[in-house]
Amino acid sequence: MTTVYAIANQKGGVGKTTTAVNMAACIAEAGYRTLLVDADPQANATVGLGFPRDCSPGLYDLLAGRAEPEGVVRETTVADLRLLPAGRDLAAANLELPREAGSEGRLREVLQPIRESYAYLLVDCPPSLGPLTVNALVAANRVLVPVQTEYFALEGLAGLLDTLDLIRRELNPALTVAGMLLTMHDGRTRLAQDVEREVREHFPELVFRTVIPRNVRVSEAPSFGLPVTHHDPHCSGAEAYFDLAKEVAARG
Ligand code: ADP
Ligand code: MG
Repeated sequence: MTTVYAIANQKGGVGKTTTAVNMAACIAEAGYRTLLVDADPQANATVGLGFPRDCSPGLYDLLAGRAEPEGVVRETTVADLRLLPAGRDLAAANLELPREAGSEGRLREVLQPIRESYAYLLVDCPPSLGPLTVNALVAANRVLVPVQTEYFALEGLAGLLDTLDLIRRELNPALTVAGMLLTMHDGRTRLAQDVEREVREHFPELVFRTVIPRNVRVSEAPSFGLPVTHHDPHCSGAEAYFDLAKEVAARG
């Protein structure tokens, strides 16, 4: 059965897109057919895999019923990794979806015909709890929450977990929290160590053992249109994402 991960946190700049792209690449490299769905109108995951920001047709055409999934999914430079790209036009979905009853399930519906062709789907969410994120959380069975290892890391996390509870009750009983992932951890600073301890104390069951270090190779990889695992497979960031993929798989 296909596992669908939503990579979500209403805060921006916490490492959602970086995690979606690199985790997807690691899973695909392990030989699992994987589809990365870019559900953010900023289209950073699309660009990070080497595609233009105004990729057309994209997810918006699929949601609007103007395209079939086969015509929208693209091959990438990573074997076994496919991309369902976003364009800036996807922003319109945030206005249009709420006008239609039952539109929370639209993404799940449009993915249905292709879902079983993949072992994993990863959905990169925008930095809000708006209609596109709700659609991702309804389409998913797991949600992975990247948390930047910075001051205010805990801010908003309790609210996010409440929202996930609400979605589970009202819209998607199958949704579970895969875990929280500490990102951009700078091991040289006292702050990062303190924040890590604090987040682990608050959510002892939820935080992944694997921590993603702050690593310049990770931040420059998108400018080459590559996951860091292809840009520099032996850097600390790539190794951490390989470890994460293993830990996620082991958690089931
Ligand atoms: P989000 O999708 O949550 O808005 P991004 O994944 O786009 O966050 O990350 C925000 C910024 O931080 C980007 O410029 C990205 O390249 C950078 N970044 C993310 N993870 C790391 C990391 N481990 N090391 C260094 N820079 C990172
Ligand atoms: Mg992003």
